[in-house]
Amino acid sequence: MAAAPSLPTHADVVVVGAGLSGLAAARRLQDAGLDVLVVEAAERPGGRVRTDAVDGLLLDRGFQLLNPAYPEVGRVVDVDALDLQPFGAGVVMASGGRRVVLGDPRRLPSSLLSDVLHSPGGLAAKLALVRWALPVGYGPASGIRAGRDRTLDEEVRARGLAGPLTEQVLRPFLAGVLADERLETSRRLGEMILRSFVRGTPALPRAGMQALPDQLAGRLAEGTVRYAVRAKIVAGNRVVTDHGTVGATAMVVAADPHAAADILRLPRPTVRALTTFWFHAGTAPTDRPLLHVDGDRDGPVVNTAVVSNAAPSYAARGALVQATVIGARPELADDARRQAGRVYGASPAAWELVRTDVIAHALPAFPVGTPLQRRVDLGDGVFVAGDHRDTPSIQGALVSGRRAADAVLARLGVTAA
Ligand SMILES: Cc1cc2nc3c(=O)[nH]c(=O)nc-3n(C[C@H](O)[C@H](O)[C@H](O)COP(=O)(O)OP(=O)(O)OC[C@H]3O[C@@H](n4cnc5c(N)ncnc54)[C@H](O)[C@@H]3O)c2cc1C
Repeated sequence: MAAAPSLPTHADVVVVGAGLSGLAAARRLQDAGLDVLVVEAAERPGGRVRTDAVDGLLLDRGFQLLNPAYPEVGRVVDVDALDLQPFGAGVVMASGGRRVVLGDPRRLPSSLLSDVLHSPGGLAAKLALVRWALPVGYGPASGIRAGRDRTLDEEVRARGLAGPLTEQVLRPFLAGVLADERLETSRRLGEMILRSFVRGTPALPRAGMQALPDQLAGRLAEGTVRYAVRAKIVAGNRVVTDHGTVGATAMVVAADPHAAADILRLPRPTVRALTTFWFHAGTAPTDRPLLHVDGDRDGPVVNTAVVSNAAPSYAARGALVQATVIGARPELADDARRQAGRVYGASPAAWELVRTDVIAHALPAFPVGTPLQRRVDLGDGVFVAGDHRDTPSIQGALVSGRRAADAVLARLGVTAA
């Protein structure tokens, strides 16, 4: 995709950022008949959802998964066209040289059922988890919004979730998904994420996660997105970029949380970091297409998976293994390799570290009391979208884009298509 040589002098709406939120906003605005320009600092769309093809491997920029059960994905994404490769509906817990599967017995292959029955924790612990997960998963979402907020850690304790099942599986699993080792995140966000895991099976598109933003960008009119253009100032009905100034009736800042805060002159929010180590193995250390957690918690890895077991397109040869740690910790590659090898019960000596992705700004923190949706209309024709306005997730980014677009349409008196 080539850089934009020249920008138009005016557009009805200028969107800053072609991540999921900006692309979702642009599409809705364009569908309503508005003249939309998107300026994106990078050379490709996607923001935090990017994939690189490297020597027959597909490497996402930080391990992540698309959950097709996200309601907004169902609304705005052609899921079939992504040709999803699902992970199994469960988690493998490794401890003391044993590996057991914990998951929804209705959605696991029968070959794994006995593992589930022998998973850690007594019946009481399993029932306590089911009593939490079922209403969160299948009850109305309003049940999650209602009630007092507290940290996920407090919620887990208050529900009597303790013992091996909680300490060896639930806590590491949630910590990895939220990039939050201590589970200080709001219960409401934790339950929303849990809901999506209960309802759907996360997956990877055949062409990599990049297929998601590529699809959204491909649905915009030709030339809508101008790449390698960085917005510097958004105010006074104009967007000043490093390639010129564009006048606009409305402006949607859909940049990442820190860039958006800088552009809007707001305080920078806390953003959590993740590091993914990608290893290429000659042979897969397991054939299970499941996320693995270390029940012994003996090392920094919060989750690991043989990605190519679930998504064969990710490795043209051998197997692709990911190991993720919380924080910006590239120096932990050897620890991660050792720990992941132990989790699978295989020697990782011959694994080749093909890339380390340090995503310093992976997920905006979501402390107790954070509303599930924050204001998107900042006044004076300036609007904001991004996962920092909703939930830090693909779902949140897409919803924020829709909300910002609807706020623009309401301001301009235009009806949504
Ligand atoms: C490692 C990792 C794992 C994750 N795992 C999951 C997961 O499993 N499931 C899930 O649902 N979510 C996951 N997420 C979260 C999800 O990817 C994000 O919430 C979502 O992609 C955020 O989209 P966004 O549009 O809000 O922001 P971004 O993707 O950050 O997009 C912002 C865009 O704005 C551009 N930009 C910034 N400044 C400027 C400027 N001045 N001018 C022009 N353009 C600018 C950037 O280049 C970028 O393209 C994960 C994220 C990471 C990083």
